[in-house]
Formats: sequence, structure tokens, C-alpha cells
Amino acid sequence: MRVRSLSTALYRVPLQRPAEDALHGTMDQVELVLLRAETDEGPTGLGYAYTIGVGGTAIKSLIDDYLAEEVVGEDPLLIEGIWEKLWKRVHWVGRGGLASFALAAIDIALWDIAGKVAGLPLYKLLGGCRREIRAYGSGVDLNLSDEELIAQVEGFLEEGFTAVKIKVGREDPREDLHRVALLRRRVGDGIELMVDANMRWTAAEAIRMGKALEEFDVIWLEEPLIPDDIDGHRQVAQALTMGVAVGENLHTKYEFQRYLSAGALDVVQLDVITLGGITEWLKVAALAEMHNLPITTHYAEEIQVHLLAASPASWFAERHAYRLDHVLERPLILKDGKIAPPEVPGHGLVFDMDKLSQYRIG
Ligand SMILES: [Mg+2]
Repeated sequence: MRVRSLSTALYRVPLQRPAEDALHGTMDQVELVLLRAETDEGPTGLGYAYTIGVGGTAIKSLIDDYLAEEVVGEDPLLIEGIWEKLWKRVHWVGRGGLASFALAAIDIALWDIAGKVAGLPLYKLLGGCRREIRAYGSGVDLNLSDEELIAQVEGFLEEGFTAVKIKVGREDPREDLHRVALLRRRVGDGIELMVDANMRWTAAEAIRMGKALEEFDVIWLEEPLIPDDIDGHRQVAQALTMGVAVGENLHTKYEFQRYLSAGALDVVQLDVITLGGITEWLKVAALAEMHNLPITTHYAEEIQVHLLAASPASWFAERHAYRLDHVLERPLILKDGKIAPPEVPGHGLVFDMDKLSQYRIG
């Protein structure tokens, strides 16, 4: 079997409601680069990359202008080989960053083909560990008033989530503590809480805030510092009893390895898009398992539900505020606080093109 063509399309999908975190300010759209791989024997693969509003045209252009020609004519089941070839093709301008997003779109399409060829859902193709995984409701909500925040969390509880994450990192740290206290009071003791600082603090600030947040039995503090400050994360992780979660801004297995060998994180947070695809994801998941650390995911839950279901170190899937349910044919369903991969060959993610096509810009 050979890859006959790779084609891409770029969409800008408005968010249901604008959202704000501590680093990126207000966000109002998700960019999607959809990639379709066709083979000469019939099976096709769907891959995609997303951005939080910036970079979509560059990712599409990397694929269209440099990477697609490297894949056409290849055996789509030699996925590692293709990944390696693409990594080297854009090495000079890549080694992470935008290049990882472009590789992810291609890699996911190839794994989709592999699942279809094998007649297996992706999680079983990867070795299968469990049929479902706990999910937490995740808010991008730094801008919400107290009332809006509580309403959002009540929505999560009504859906059936048993764990909830909110943003911290307001200008006045007392407001963060007030919001988390409010939240803990509302949800009681039975619900697990996480907070996400989106890289807002210094190590000293994170340690001070983390110790205050531990009063509310928060299970992890996510991205307290910029991802470049590994030693700062190590200090925070050592000072706090709650977990420090890092990973959505790491783009290669090498970056994860530096964190793991430094003891600079407790919860390994993977994003199959920002990390360069399923091939790279599996290696980081194995690294996490070898360090005896739990893994969780950032966004892209339709693909990552398979990966978590295939990995022994899995803990939680994030059910993100930027859900794409309104442009999907088969949105994930939460049952007993868990989500499950679809039992169809490949990853089973299908966009509803009647709804998505209105957002196409390239
Ligand atoms: Mg986050």
C-alpha cells in the first residue's frame, strides 16, 4: 500500500464563548488544520492539528510545501520511518514548535489508516489497557465572575464529572484563593479539584500560592511557571505536597525527558498535537510509566481517549472548555464520569462537514 495524496484545509471555528487564561488573554477561536491521507488501496486517514488562534496558516504551509511530498509514495504503515524522515526534513526550523503540530496532523492520519487496515479501534491496535478513562471538566474561566464560575462548575457536575479544574493566575492572588475556596465549598469533599496557572508565576510565587491552595485539597497545580524554567519547576515540585502538572507546552520527547530526569513534575500532561503525534506520545507515556508518574492529557480528547485507554500510567482525560462537539458527527459521551473510545476501526473521529465547512478559510 502507498500513500497517494495528502491534502489539508484550514478552519477557524469560533468558540461558544470567549475564554481567558493567565498567559494568552482572551481567546475566541480554535484553528483546525484538517489533513486527509489517501492510499492506493482504499483506506483513508484523517489527521488534524489545532491552535488556539495563531499559527494555523504556517502549520498548513509546512505540510503543503515541505512535508506532504515526503509522505506521498510511502507505505503508510511504516509510521516510525515516516515520522523520522519528516523530523529530519524540518529539523533546521523545527525540533518542536510549529513543526511538531505539522508532524502530528500527518502522524494521526497514518495511525488512523493503520487502525482501519487492522480492523481495530486505535486503542486496541496500541495494545489496549482499559475500555474507559476518567475525565475531568476543565474550564478556561479566568475572566468569569464568581457567579459564572459556580454556574460553570455546576454544569460540569450535572454532566456527571467527578473532578473539575479552574484557572488561577489573576492579578491579585487573593482572588485566586477566594475562587478556589468558593469552589471547594460548592462541590464539597467528594470532588477532585485541580488548578491551572498557565505559566503566570515565578517559582517563589508558585510555592507560596501552592501552599495556600493545598488548604483546599487541590490535587494538582498545572503549569505554574514558563516551560523553559525546569529548575523552577523542580523547586515547586519539591516544596509542594500537591502534584505539579506540566506538558501542554512541551513539544518533544526530549523536553519531557529533561523534566523527568530533573524531577521537575509529578503529573505528565500530554497533548498529542503539540507533541508531534501519536508516535511521540507513546514514547513519552512509556517514559512517564518508567518514572512511576501518572499521565493526563490536554485537549484533543477525541484522539487521546484512545491513547489513555492504551497506557497503563493513565489517570485523567481533560474534557476541555474548547469542545468541538458542535462540529463533530459523534461527540464523546460522558458516562459515570468517564469517556470511552469509539469501537470503530481507526480513531473514529469524524467531523461533520456540513457544519464545519462554513468556517473554512484556506
Ligand atoms: Mg493547561
